[in-house]
Amino acid sequence: MVDPHKTDVRIGVLALQGDFKEHAKMLIDSGVNAVEVRTDTEIESIDGLIIPGGESTTMARLLIAYDLMELLKAKIASGFPVWGTCAGAILLADSAPDLDRPTIGGIPMTIKRNAFGTQVDSFETDLHILDLEGGDYHAIFIRAPLITEVATEVEIMSRLNNGEIVAVVNKNLMATCFHPEITNDKRLHSKFIDVVTKYKIDKSTEV
Ligand code: GLN
Repeated sequence: MVDPHKTDVRIGVLALQGDFKEHAKMLIDSGVNAVEVRTDTEIESIDGLIIPGGESTTMARLLIAYDLMELLKAKIASGFPVWGTCAGAILLADSAPDLDRPTIGGIPMTIKRNAFGTQVDSFETDLHILDLEGGDYHAIFIRAPLITEVATEVEIMSRLNNGEIVAVVNKNLMATCFHPEITNDKRLHSKFIDVVTKYKIDKSTEV
């Protein structure tokens, strides 16, 4: 593991809508610089980005209105690390058939919005997460999506007991259908900080 403190990693949380404040707090509590980002200049100043939970329709509209869609697509294509949680995961999917706007995309997967219906809109469960030390992860799902299809290169990080996919990683992109920012468990934030730290080090040593 690389030490994020030594590299002065700066992680942005997309702050157009949703629970960005909770993510920023988790990052700060994990010992890195966290900033709320809303503009292209702010996005250019960070080493990685979290797209929080909220409403993917609203966020997609605001991304288009603020002219951030193309910038994010280009940055993702160049390896920039992004972690999408819940609505954020929807925005990172190449295909979200029930979203009325285009996604940012980046992860070759299909995601289904509000996949758990109305009766079980929200639930909590313990998940086994790939390569996460320290036992199961207590995950909170709120009007959550489900990942229904993934390309072979996408690594599956976690499934529900019935086999449905709820977390994936694809190069420097992570997507989780649940809300890690409203627990006290910082392990997934630490995992993303590792991805960002490595990306920053690799970039600074590029010739
Ligand atoms: N249901 C929301 C959507 O479709 C996601 C919910 C969430 O982020 N908690 O965008």
